[in-house]
Amino acid sequence: MSPATDLQICLNGYGSIDDRCCEEKLHLLFEYRNATNLYATHVALMAEIAGGLLAKDEFDLLSEAASQAHEKCIEAREHFFKHAEEHGC
Ligand SMILES: [Zn+2]
Repeated sequence: MSPATDLQICLNGYGSIDDRCCEEKLHLLFEYRNATNLYATHVALMAEIAGGLLAKDEFDLLSEAASQAHEKCIEAREHFFKHAEEHGC
């Protein structure tokens, strides 16, 4: 990736560029946090179902959604650390 392309990605992030903080890194960290929050929400609901607070057939649906949310978590985490490594930020 050329420095120009890299800069453009940073400009597509939030607001102006701050030398001390990479915008793309921040953006990827927000995505990682959001994916983690979604996964945590699904798992919390699954715990309620397991505790008998929700119907059993909803558990299977939720379990599928939780798996997908977990995949997104792992992807977001990889994107974050890959960027930090490649960008040295
Ligand atoms: Zn960076």
